[in-house]
Amino acid sequence: MARTKIIPPEGLFSDLEYTSVIVNYSNGIDSTGTLYWALKNFPKEKIILLYCDTGCEYPENISLFYKTAAFLKIRPVLLADPRGFLGLLLNERLRFPDMKHRWCTSYLKTMVTDKWIRHHREQLGPKCLFLSGERRDESIGREKLPELEYHSTTLKTRRVADFTCHWYRPCLDYEKGKMFERGRELHLEPHPCYEYIGRCSCMFCVLMPDRHAAENIKRYPEIAAAYVRAEMQLNHRWKQASSLQSIYNECLDIGDIDEDLLEDFRQMSLFETIGE
Ligand code: SF4
Repeated sequence: MARTKIIPPEGLFSDLEYTSVIVNYSNGIDSTGTLYWALKNFPKEKIILLYCDTGCEYPENISLFYKTAAFLKIRPVLLADPRGFLGLLLNERLRFPDMKHRWCTSYLKTMVTDKWIRHHREQLGPKCLFLSGERRDESIGREKLPELEYHSTTLKTRRVADFTCHWYRPCLDYEKGKMFERGRELHLEPHPCYEYIGRCSCMFCVLMPDRHAAENIKRYPEIAAAYVRAEMQLNHRWKQASSLQSIYNECLDIGDIDEDLLEDFRQMSLFETIGE
């Protein structure tokens, strides 16, 4: 979903003209609101529910995704880069992503999605509508997003194929409460993480507040330990200002941790000292 920032002069086509509709779905409440919009405006046969597994997802996410697609009787498409978040981090990128270098989004979402769209142009037909759930009040960056722009998979000429993909954001001007309302109308339960944090992102998203990471560490300590080990192996912190290790240590009773992990902790403590 690389942005083109080019507004289509033709505007949105009529509902009947689109040959396919892709809902960029994450199990989060904003993508649920987006799905609601798609279902209100298009027949189910045209809708594809697209989910990118980054490898840093809640363990229940994939089954939730398929459950939602089955319940609403729409076609699910699950995409994943086989390297996953940790594979890319430990073998190629060697640094956690940050605001300026969000390689996680580029590699694990944008590139896999664009590739899938390019490979399925024939199936999607000449006019595809790509939907995503950004809302203006989420961040300054999202405040100025256009409702409509060309998707990067749009072909400029018909030499290879006739393919236009419009990227539309139907929830931009809605508030979060409305998204939950729409989820209820679809009879979809919000993702379980909303019981304790306000945003459904990757489990250890580098953009999340530390307290959200702490809540996930408490609930999924074994998964968190892999990210703490990655910090240690790379000698690079999850965030510049805070290491996952320090949050992890605050969350867990050291007496509950097995011997291997304790050994890792001894080494991590050394890393902490070196990293200061
Ligand atoms: S949710 Fe966070 S960690 Fe996951 S891809 Fe997006 S920016 Fe990266």
